[in-house]
Amino acid sequence: MNSTDEAQQQSRDHSAEVLAEDSVEHLAKPSNKGTIPVLEIFGPTIQGEGMSIGRKTMFVRTAGCDYRCTWCDSAFTWDGSGKDEIRLLHPSDIWEELYRLGGSSFDHVTISGGNPAMLRQLGGLVRLLREKNIRTAVETQGSIWQDWMLEVDEVTVSPKPPSSGMNTDMTLLDDWVKQLSTRTAADWTPVFSLKVIVFDAKDLDYAGLIHRRYPLVPMFIQTGNPVTSGEAAPDVASRLLLAYEQLIEQVMERADMTNVRVLPQLHTLVWGNKRGV
Ligand code: SF4
Repeated sequence: MNSTDEAQQQSRDHSAEVLAEDSVEHLAKPSNKGTIPVLEIFGPTIQGEGMSIGRKTMFVRTAGCDYRCTWCDSAFTWDGSGKDEIRLLHPSDIWEELYRLGGSSFDHVTISGGNPAMLRQLGGLVRLLREKNIRTAVETQGSIWQDWMLEVDEVTVSPKPPSSGMNTDMTLLDDWVKQLSTRTAADWTPVFSLKVIVFDAKDLDYAGLIHRRYPLVPMFIQTGNPVTSGEAAPDVASRLLLAYEQLIEQVMERADMTNVRVLPQLHTLVWGNKRGV
């Protein structure tokens, strides 16, 4: 194991501990079997990233992540700072809250994190939403496979570039792409895409490597947000727009990036780093 692998293993262990510390008492009760550690439920709002960018959606944010990206903009899901906000909810509780917030004004739910793929029990929520005729989307780094992933309508796999400080297990990623490629779309919406966040030249090379390895998978390249708190939305927006312009210029020059889409982080342009929007 190299030092990055060790750091990732430690962070998996730590993440499990944070969740376990907070939830062990509740999980011991039979009535809490199958509950999901939830940090936020909000919406309706727009999806600000990836293949569903701009799409009206509700969000369910789960707690816990097996990674520790240096620039994580939702570190409260795993660093313990949001521990007191974690609720252990059954899928039916989550549905009730979604409906209370959104009524009949939504037909799409994004399950976000942290890394939702840490939670085997999320399959219950995905199936319940399907019964309610709600489309589902999930984003994950592709480090932990769950079979319920095949029941999600829109899966974004977002392997993390070098600037994150994390290593990508390419064999695992190959397996993800193979499994998800067996799915067929029920309508025009793409069901599976790759997204790479780019902060610097090494990240862009990494995005090129990923795109060359999986040329048939829709590929989204997105600006990173170096400011994760403390700045007003207009200040964040002007910095991000400059980074977006530079990223566009760099991608246009590259011969290994033809069938790609270049995106800003839309919600950050509008709301800065505000939570729950
Ligand atoms: S994978 Fe996502 S949630 Fe986890 S540390 Fe990285 S950026 Fe944060």
